[in-house]
Amino acid sequence: MSLTVAKFGGTSVADYQAMVRCANIIKQDENCRTAVVSASAGVTNYLVRLSQAEVPAAEQASIITSISEIQHNITAQLAAEHDLNREIALLLNELTELAKQQSNHYSLQNADAILSYGEQMSSLIFAEVLRSIGLPGIQFDVRQVMKTNSAYGQANVDIEQLKQASQAVLQPLLQEHIVVTQGFIGQDSLGYTTTLGRGGSDYSAALLAEALDATKLAIWTDVEGIFTTDPRITDQARSIPEISFGEAAEMATFGAKILHPATLIPAMRQNIPVFVGSSKEPEKGGTRIQQEVASKPTYRSIALRRQQSLVTVKSPEMLHASGFLAKVFAILAKHELSVDLITTSEISVALTFDNPTASSQHLITQAVVEELEQLCEVTVEHGLSLVAVIGNGLNAAKGLGRDIFQKINDFNIRLICHGASSNNLCFLVPEENANTIVEQLHDRLFTQ
Ligand code: ASP
Ligand code: MG
Repeated sequence: MSLTVAKFGGTSVADYQAMVRCANIIKQDENCRTAVVSASAGVTNYLVRLSQAEVPAAEQASIITSISEIQHNITAQLAAEHDLNREIALLLNELTELAKQQSNHYSLQNADAILSYGEQMSSLIFAEVLRSIGLPGIQFDVRQVMKTNSAYGQANVDIEQLKQASQAVLQPLLQEHIVVTQGFIGQDSLGYTTTLGRGGSDYSAALLAEALDATKLAIWTDVEGIFTTDPRITDQARSIPEISFGEAAEMATFGAKILHPATLIPAMRQNIPVFVGSSKEPEKGGTRIQQEVASKPTYRSIALRRQQSLVTVKSPEMLHASGFLAKVFAILAKHELSVDLITTSEISVALTFDNPTASSQHLITQAVVEELEQLCEVTVEHGLSLVAVIGNGLNAAKGLGRDIFQKINDFNIRLICHGASSNNLCFLVPEENANTIVEQLHDRLFTQ
């Protein structure tokens, strides 16, 4: 049986008009019987603040008012009779209590409970919006099936349990209903609410699509698909009609912000085609991501990831020695650092690390450096950006000099990684040149 799982992001459920547009998208696809929603735009950011320690009482109150306004602006426009205001008031009361507790006794567990209210409210309201246009919408609490470990803030889902529970309790509901459920949240074995990490709703939707044996996963967002590069860098960027899983996964890992990087993993496991489109302008189409694609161009897109650190370790003892790399990696593993790119020469190795964009702290701490220094000389550089050219057969392509390197001839290229993957060629450049480089490369690869 055909089944579409649709996911609507924060801007797609930001206000009443946006929700009605999404409801109509569901109406157009008779196979669409599961909708996964994010919190209405802005709500999770407010909740993040509420989930912190020692938030002044006045600020707590004003945040709750702002959240309440976002939600009530939607419910006020629903013409039909509904009971939403009472239900939202109950949720906001719970939230107020949790926020108070949190500012006195901070706990990670409580933080996740607080963060879950955005999705709880948006799913409640969206189910009503579906009913208001005549669709059989019901809200379903995803915590019944999305069982996770207790790593609050970044919980891991038990995929087997999700599959069994979804088949047992969710699947039967799809016979007669369109189920509206929450992205981003889950529940641990102790019964506490957990979250899967910021932007995790895409991943929730993909996991549910896998668990329900869906035939399509549709991610509705505020851009019309995946672009050849970030449209904020060049207005020449355009939507890609079709792209393979492999290429799209590379894009997500290398900085294209459009999908949560883990989203494609369940879809690839189960070979479920993914569509990404704009709920604002669904008629404009979007991007289809699937296993097999008709065209496999050498150059598909350019991704840019900022805030990279480059660590170079150098040891004359490495000459003809063995085991040096193993020692370096043991230290990195101990500090749970994940390496992105690597290049090596006879006596030195250069490694890149991604720094979380939201934080000003570098992942490479003094402690890491000191430990590495017991083995070798260490230099750390910051302020770099990683440019990834993504496409097909890149490791065997001819003309890279003409197509890529000629364009970046005037810039300092700090490191190049090529050959390991047929889907990407990456290099590291100074942060201040990154936009110009991407713009010029895009011009060369996609507009000539
Ligand atoms: N509402 C959550 C966030 O803003 C999850 C999501 O939207 O994907 O991060
Ligand atoms: Mg998102």
